Amino acid sequence: MRYVEPHAHMVSRTTDDYRAMALSGCAAVCEPAFWAGFDRCSADGFRDYFRQLTETEPARAARFGLPHFAWLCLNPKESEDLGLAEDVLALIPEFLSRPNVLGIGEIGLNKNSRNELRVLERHVQIAVERDRLILVHTPHLEDKLKGTRLILDVLRAHGVKPGRALVDHVEEHTVRLVLDAGHWGGITLYPESKATPARAIDMVERYAAERLWLNSACDWGHSEPLAVPRAALEMRRRGHSAAAVDALVYGNPVRFLSQVPGFRVAEGADLAP
Ligand SMILES: [Zn+2]
Repeated sequence: MRYVEPHAHMVSRTTDDYRAMALSGCAAVCEPAFWAGFDRCSADGFRDYFRQLTETEPARAARFGLPHFAWLCLNPKESEDLGLAEDVLALIPEFLSRPNVLGIGEIGLNKNSRNELRVLERHVQIAVERDRLILVHTPHLEDKLKGTRLILDVLRAHGVKPGRALVDHVEEHTVRLVLDAGHWGGITLYPESKATPARAIDMVERYAAERLWLNSACDWGHSEPLAVPRAALEMRRRGHSAAAVDALVYGNPVRFLSQVPGFRVAEGADLAP
């Protein structure tokens, strides 16, 4: 099996996790910028974080032959301090030109607040001006449907080409909205919330799967770095062909991410299994 892990917060994972992913057939790992578990209080903290995402993690991943790519932004949770947000936004362009940077993400909404929306729009502006891909986080539980609608409105209002934005953490009640708008959708596999492998494969069976990907979104919380290959096993157990599984866990993320010229997979992974 080969797969791409399109959403993992490896700064909070161990070297053993990288090894386990490589052993399970991971062909590339992509890391969106994220909340650190506490609020950073200066733009310098973000500068160091962006260096970690674009220098340190790629070096850790390379020990296992894994290409590593990053998305840059400040997290919606950190959008309430608009002064700090502007300082961080000003840092992003200098890092965006690095060849292992995929675009702007994971931006989005958390509590759907006014300031979050403002910072979301600023991020989208940066991406549109520079024609970069966008990765969007959608809120949790009861805020998800409203937040997804607000996000889709912002993307449309700013003229984002639908195929250049992936809206992540879709669930049964939001997946259709995202796909009907022409965007890509990400299904996140979590042990307790978001989707289980069984629910994820139900969605894949119900909706057009060509613009869906699976991810673990593993971070410092309760999460599973091997969630994508586990879901692939669930798909095989239900009788889906090896080719259908490969298209979902490898082909789809490669298709979306190959819009970035510097994206590549581990040596040999592009040869059909
Ligand atoms: Zn994430």
